[in-house]
Amino acid sequence: MTFEELGLGPTLLSAIKDAGYETPTPIQEQAIPVALTGRDVLGIAQTGTGKTASFTLPLIERLSRGRARARMPRSLIICPTRELAAQVAENFETYAKNHKLTMALLIGGVAFGPQDKILDQGADVLIATPGRLLDQFERGKLLLTGVQIMVVDEADRMLDMGFIPDIERIFKLVPPRRQTLFFSATMADEITRLVNTFLNDPVRIEVTRQAQTADNINQLFVRIRDKTPAAKRDALRKAIEREGVKNGIVFCNRKRDVDTVARSLQRHGFSAAPIHGDLEQSQRTQTLADFKSDKVRLLVASDVAARGLDIPAVSHVFNFDVPRSADDYVHRIGRTGRAGMSGEAITIVTPEDSKAIDAVTKLIGFVPEELKLGAGSAQAEKKPSEPAKKAAEEQDAQTAAKQESGAKEAEAAPPREPRKRTSGRRRKSETQSRPARRDEGTTAETNPRPARSARRDETESVDAAVGFGDHVPEFLLRPAIR
Ligand code: AMP
Repeated sequence: MTFEELGLGPTLLSAIKDAGYETPTPIQEQAIPVALTGRDVLGIAQTGTGKTASFTLPLIERLSRGRARARMPRSLIICPTRELAAQVAENFETYAKNHKLTMALLIGGVAFGPQDKILDQGADVLIATPGRLLDQFERGKLLLTGVQIMVVDEADRMLDMGFIPDIERIFKLVPPRRQTLFFSATMADEITRLVNTFLNDPVRIEVTRQAQTADNINQLFVRIRDKTPAAKRDALRKAIEREGVKNGIVFCNRKRDVDTVARSLQRHGFSAAPIHGDLEQSQRTQTLADFKSDKVRLLVASDVAARGLDIPAVSHVFNFDVPRSADDYVHRIGRTGRAGMSGEAITIVTPEDSKAIDAVTKLIGFVPEELKLGAGSAQAEKKPSEPAKKAAEEQDAQTAAKQESGAKEAEAAPPREPRKRTSGRRRKSETQSRPARRDEGTTAETNPRPARSARRDETESVDAAVGFGDHVPEFLLRPAIR
């Protein structure tokens, strides 16, 4: 099938051609014609399938007629994280470059001023994280009664991050006669309930996972008996030193390990940088740009921070830790082998991981081959000298010891009193005095339904506020009317 056959107009087809896409991906092939008719869509697909274009393209096509009114967006795209929202915005700009549509990006961690201005001018498309959207609504900057199309992207991640009550609230604020395009990689009970409540007879489109993981991604397990972080870091270095590793993302389960592993790799002469929710937005943007331009070869990331990152050319994914949920495994390895290219995913497995790895193999439907790493290291990036290597190893050991005692201290500290959340609409004074919401770093404290405990250290500050005016993303500095 071709893009021409999907029912898209010539203006969009020209932008798609410029983006270099030749044929639609399966989710695009199935979702676009349905979405163009105005029907609701339930898309079960993960990142890497081309799902963003599958909702952005029909949205642009349907909005191409008509005009935005001040403070009344005509469409709304809700994303769980700032990074994902920013990437959807980038996608939108690519596809809508020949249209006169206006877009506003509402994400936490940036000043309200420029966002207010864009909203005042009127936006056809509003791309937002749930917290900031509700904040702007409560500040009276936004009316949702003009929304004709609502998109929910990565609903499964919304669930993980405790955003479902916010999504329900947003669904109740938009007109009932609207089109909903709803995307999730998995269908947990709570997500099914949401779909049954708020979607109107949706067409269900599922892109099978198994084929995606098996086709062009060579999956390998490195089994080591020693479960210590030092042994895992050693295995990681050897895996990185293998032939054919152009660049890669190293996944860790915990934020503090992201930092440790990145520092350790740097000390051993590798070009590596960390990316996680505690880093300032400007830092994360810079790191990502450095990685995309090959200045940095290895990105060490946590699941939430990496979620939705649009990096087309990654040769390798390394799982420093076996992910806590099998779904995350599929998400992680989906970072390589994108858009038909081949890739490799190497997972370090210790005897402690047996339960988690069983869940992974059950989900993917096979047991990946074992990769045996030799005792010596092949060629290191900058080949640090033997004494330098030794010093690096010693420093690693010291860091590990410090972390151990730090963790113990944290365990010993009394738990903080959880802050109560006012239900429903917050009092005005509260909104004014404390504008930061959940997706700006307060998740665990204010969330009435705590995020799954396993995710806590990620969700607490994934969208931590970076302060007003510290960094304003490029999109917000551009004029709203193009
Ligand atoms: P997504 O699943 O939306 O995160 O998209 C994954 C990647 O595939 C992005 O880098 C897109 O730019 C790219 N992409 C989307 N659709 C196509 C297509 N039809 N052909 C080639 N690449 C695509």
